[in-house]
Amino acid sequence: MTHTKRGLLVGRFQPFHKGHEYVINQILKENDEVIIAVGSAQLSYTLENPLTAGERVYMIQSALKQRKLGLDKAITITVPDIQYNSVWPTHLKSYSPPFNTVYTNNPLVTALLKDAGITVKHPKLYMRNKCSGTNIRRWLLKGDPQWRKYVPDTTITILDELKIRERLLTITAQYENPGGRD
Ligand code: NAD
Repeated sequence: MTHTKRGLLVGRFQPFHKGHEYVINQILKENDEVIIAVGSAQLSYTLENPLTAGERVYMIQSALKQRKLGLDKAITITVPDIQYNSVWPTHLKSYSPPFNTVYTNNPLVTALLKDAGITVKHPKLYMRNKCSGTNIRRWLLKGDPQWRKYVPDTTITILDELKIRERLLTITAQYENPGGRD
């Protein structure tokens, strides 16, 4: 294994919020570098995954730069999903620089990685009852401004720039009236 100790955080980052920032800080206390793996990279323009992989990378890099979280110690990668869960750990490794530990609270990710012999740690959660991608996307769709409290300033700027609420409303309209104008 590498001499540089790396911890990997895997997530969809739809969008990148203060909980993710909190975990990156934890990882950097315990490792030399952090790898941020943007999962489900192929998904975008859906209610659960409104942002493209490129937009998510942009959001993550902007937050790291702004908060001086250690851009020089962070590597952001994108990882598309695959059909076969059992070989996903090898797939993840093939997209990433070498790493020592994966940080996740996702039960499926934990099981797959542990079965493949990869060390997994469960990071502490930050305001989990509020600070989650699901809540933030729900507030955005409703037009409830409280989502702004739970994301870094850079995420606010980028989501406003992308007109993400309009995108979510368009996607909802598409579900309600698939394929038609009438
Ligand atoms: P997520 O964005 O919901 O969460 C990522 C991580 O962020 C969590 O595990 C948690 O550790 C942390 N986090 C979230 N909220 C937090 C908070 N408030 N405070 C502190 N930490 C917080 O992403 P996810 O769904 O766990 O991402 C897993 C990715 O792996 C997905 O893209 C999934 O598709 C992919 N995956 C793919 C396969 C496959 O392709 N077969 C298999 C397994 C997983």
